[in-house]
Amino acid sequence: MVKEKVSMKKIIIGNLKMNLISAQEREQYLKSFKKEITGKKLNNVEIVLCPPAIHLENFGKILGKKVFLGGQNCFWEDKGSYTGEISPLMLKNFGCEYVIIGHSDRRKYFGETDETISRKINLVLKNNLKPVICVGENWEQKVKGIDVVARQLRDCLEGVTGGKIENIIICYEPVWAISSNKPDHMPETNEIMGAGLVIKRFLVGKYGVRIAEKVRIIYGGSVSSVNVNETCVGARMEGALVGKESLTPREFLKICKIIEG
Ligand code: PEP
Repeated sequence: MVKEKVSMKKIIIGNLKMNLISAQEREQYLKSFKKEITGKKLNNVEIVLCPPAIHLENFGKILGKKVFLGGQNCFWEDKGSYTGEISPLMLKNFGCEYVIIGHSDRRKYFGETDETISRKINLVLKNNLKPVICVGENWEQKVKGIDVVARQLRDCLEGVTGGKIENIIICYEPVWAISSNKPDHMPETNEIMGAGLVIKRFLVGKYGVRIAEKVRIIYGGSVSSVNVNETCVGARMEGALVGKESLTPREFLKICKIIEG
């Protein structure tokens, strides 16, 4: 059991969201990313970038094996008459290894529910992609002390059996801390550790200790090179989901370096 744990690399995932709005911006970003990563020793972490789907192929060509690619979302069917959607199979065929599922932007603006998220997770796993499942409470739920994380996990992991569990990454991402500029809108290290324990306890209860140990639990929400020691390293997270700071390759790679240790 301990062996499996030790061999798991920490993971840092850049969620570029709906940015890099032209080929020119994409090329500038890739040039800067390549320059910053060249010569850096980052052997003990997995680095994943999730650009808008329209840029995936170019990211793959330019960054090659230096980083893994991920989608920001996907649909719950592989193919067919679903205008505007992108399927797990398409992501796989265009070089992705990971896909973010259930991001709070998707829940907030596109009406995603735990039920649709669960359908997506099941298909993602069937396609041998690795889902990065986002869970976390909003400010109102936090103030009222509602345990959102365990409920979201229960509903989102409906139908997911232990067989592919090592492919899953769970991201504790308190909605109130995303892209926050306010110091009081950042969770304390012990709050993040507490959420990590809730997640671990849920996984142990559903899948048993041996299987639960294989799931990486990471933190997301305004991670920067300034706070990564408190939000991720000190909170014993196995990586980070990084939004805003992933748009600046130098800062993003600083975060990777700190997590690598
Ligand atoms: C996100 O939206 O997934 C995220 C982590 O954003 P930020 O780092 O900007 O809070």
